[in-house]
Amino acid sequence: MKGKLSAALLAVALTLSLAGCGGETGLPASQTAGRDFQKNMHQSLASQLRTVCETDGGFYFMGGRHWQAYYLDKATKRAILLCGKPECSHEDDTCDAELSAQTLWFYDGRLYFTNANSVEENGEYVDYGNRVYSVAPDGTGRKVAQSLEFEPSGDQANAASPILHRGTVYFSYNGDLYAMKLGGDIKDAEKIWGQELPEVETDQYGIPVLGAHYLSYDLWADGDSLYFMTDLKLADGTYKAALFSLDTETHEATQVWKTPDTEEVGDWDTAGVSPTQWYVLDGVLYFYLSGNGLWRTDLSNGETEKLADTGDAAPHGTAIFSDDYLCVLNDGLDSHEIFSYSDSTGHTGGDTLYIYGLDGELKAELDLKSLYDELDPLNHIQLAFCSGDEVYFLADATRQGGLGESTQVGDVMGSAMKQYRKYVLYCAGIDTGEITQIDVWEW
Ligand SMILES: [Zn+2]
Repeated sequence: MKGKLSAALLAVALTLSLAGCGGETGLPASQTAGRDFQKNMHQSLASQLRTVCETDGGFYFMGGRHWQAYYLDKATKRAILLCGKPECSHEDDTCDAELSAQTLWFYDGRLYFTNANSVEENGEYVDYGNRVYSVAPDGTGRKVAQSLEFEPSGDQANAASPILHRGTVYFSYNGDLYAMKLGGDIKDAEKIWGQELPEVETDQYGIPVLGAHYLSYDLWADGDSLYFMTDLKLADGTYKAALFSLDTETHEATQVWKTPDTEEVGDWDTAGVSPTQWYVLDGVLYFYLSGNGLWRTDLSNGETEKLADTGDAAPHGTAIFSDDYLCVLNDGLDSHEIFSYSDSTGHTGGDTLYIYGLDGELKAELDLKSLYDELDPLNHIQLAFCSGDEVYFLADATRQGGLGESTQVGDVMGSAMKQYRKYVLYCAGIDTGEITQIDVWEW
């Protein structure tokens, strides 16, 4: 019954959304064919909804109880499991929704995803490392598109966060950056940036010591420009996030920005180390410093100005950007509970969304307090993404069982404690203030 119902819904939703191509969707014109890097899909802070991409009619995301693929229809605000197979239990890896996706892209009419799962071949499991796959919009017809590793290691971190921009896949491998045509042979991948790897400190057994630093890149594309954010090692041995612009022809990387010092901008939560959130649009870097404000830096000349003081409205915040907005949730960590065992406790505030335009103007203030009454307990709200005039967020209503209650998750100080997990996905209209419940997952 469950299988048949979702098959029918999936068919209806996809028919509607594909028929709606070219309609008014709020998707930037450059992305209506899924051609450009989807910046606003690269922002999610929701632990259970981190991997997401956008189409004209909706969104694909990984989430739910079994970390499966869903399609969320923009018009109906319904999320449907991406499996239309009749009689499928949706519980094992034969389910179409079982993508194990670390990355999702929608490009040229197909849904692409990456994972490092071993593949069963003739009764044996074979490790091909990180690869890109594609499926039809309804989840059927899975195909291997390309590899992301020269030597398969299966290490998720090795090909962390590749991006797709105008048909080219940009990815990192062993600390170097590569570019290759989507669906090509990895032998043709071009090394576009490389540098000496910092030595990783290891213990006597050769195991990296806790806190040892790995070189990692956050890739970004904006028009004709490619960027990456990485950590610079300072003379005192600490690290500071810096943004580089990368010329893919000459392979020259130019540092265009680094995390400011507190003498320049004042104090914030991760002062001197990194911005809380950042976004590059039309050659301008927008960055948000929790407890401080919204800033902009013109990357062509380095001129920096403060656009908004956000410290009064939201002393501490988590934030996501879109092409139009900065969405700040007043959200702070209670210092007494930082070492709490659960990711769903230890937060304070989290009940008001402040929406700023990228000119710094406060456009809207959305009150989320009623959700705390409806969901008892509501531990924490996690921002997922912002598209058009809508903000999507996930409410974590996970409840802790009593001590001695059955086992399974969360072994705290030697005591078995059960968690009853519950996540609720919402959408809030920025202009209307209307909050719509999209889906609930409980287990
Ligand atoms: Zn299924």
